[in-house]
Amino acid sequence: MLKVTKFGGSSMADAGQYRKVKEIIDADSRRRVVVVSAAGKRFSADHKLTDLLYLCHAHIQYGVDCTPVFDMITSRYLEIRDELGLQLPLEEEFQELKERLQKKKVSQDELVSRGEYFSAKLMAAYLDFQFVDSADWVKFSTDGVVNKEESYAALKNQADIARGVVIPGFYGVMPNGEIKTFSRGGSDITGALAAAALDANVYENWTDVSGILMADPRIVNDPQPIPEVTYDELRELSYSGAQVLHEGTIFPVREKNIPINIRNTNAPEDPGTMIKESFDSTSDPNRFITGIAGKKDFSIIALSKRGLGNEVGVLRKVLSVLERHHISVDYCPNGIDSVFVVVASSAIESCLYNVLSEIQRDVQPDTLQVYNEIAVIAAVGRRMAFRPGISGKLFAALGEAGINIRMINQGPSELNIILGVDNKDFAETMRVLYNSFVK
Ligand code: ASP
Repeated sequence: MLKVTKFGGSSMADAGQYRKVKEIIDADSRRRVVVVSAAGKRFSADHKLTDLLYLCHAHIQYGVDCTPVFDMITSRYLEIRDELGLQLPLEEEFQELKERLQKKKVSQDELVSRGEYFSAKLMAAYLDFQFVDSADWVKFSTDGVVNKEESYAALKNQADIARGVVIPGFYGVMPNGEIKTFSRGGSDITGALAAAALDANVYENWTDVSGILMADPRIVNDPQPIPEVTYDELRELSYSGAQVLHEGTIFPVREKNIPINIRNTNAPEDPGTMIKESFDSTSDPNRFITGIAGKKDFSIIALSKRGLGNEVGVLRKVLSVLERHHISVDYCPNGIDSVFVVVASSAIESCLYNVLSEIQRDVQPDTLQVYNEIAVIAAVGRRMAFRPGISGKLFAALGEAGINIRMINQGPSELNIILGVDNKDFAETMRVLYNSFVK
């Protein structure tokens, strides 16, 4: 039985957090692989190491002395080392990096990857585990996609599971030997790749909340964590705005049917959220909604035309216009003689008038209107499917709260109910939905 664990930035922020990580690893002998992020914030006004590294690179680019920022970075790591009493001579590596940096010989990706590199060096020394550099196993192809076969084989070859392994997240290597990072938050992907490579039984993703919350805590007061969520539900929630795992995380583990368990480093006794393909039974059979998520600032292009329902190819013509402008369509509910196209306002802003005039030309609708400042909210739940009464309850609650619904959409899998409301009603809609289903 093998557990691959990944600790995010807040779990790596200072020596105190390293101690908590060690306690978690020591508490379960199946936790043999540890993937780490760069040091995160220690308090809200603090800086993430990765941000400082990006800043450092910008200094060099603009010919400004990077010494003050570079010193901030090195002292964060040296402080952790000294507080933990580790004998790791990092100074030389820092010096060598700085010299290469000043000669402009370090790419941005290489420089920012050093955040996780030094985190992993320190954690490996602290746990007395083997350090396996991600530059030696996460192999990108020339197109920037990870070559999973080669990467998995390389990690299997190098990892001494019996001893325990620490791996830096966030980066890998291109075929020409250059370091390449994932996009921000990408250590989640490294953890998922390691879990898949080593056929782990579970991928534990340790963070600073006790699992995925049912709603955004900045909007809903003290939302409950979700005990169990399927990959499909999670995809719906993330797409609709819940910030959970990095987008590329699910695929490698889902392919191998490895569950993900989101846990809290600061409350290790909490069970967190379990993410799996499916669940046989459910922890709370009366809970029909798994989570609620939403995003603001959508635009609806609404067109109507008498007889449109009988005309062939209208939808295609409308969607072709958007395709020509490379605009992704989020939702497309329609009536008999009307079509709604919902897109992110930021995506259409610069070409709105061209899009409208092309729709006018190609479809010749009777009316063509644009509604801005629309928020889209999704209530997601696998237990909603084929169960009457859920949407009735949902709409009744919103009606009672006096919220006007601008759009309704439900995916064919009945996994979600999607509502469009005015931006100004966004937070209240989230609260009403949460309270009517959870409280
Ligand atoms: N350190 C990187 C970031 O801040 C990657 C990660 O933590 O996942 O984006």
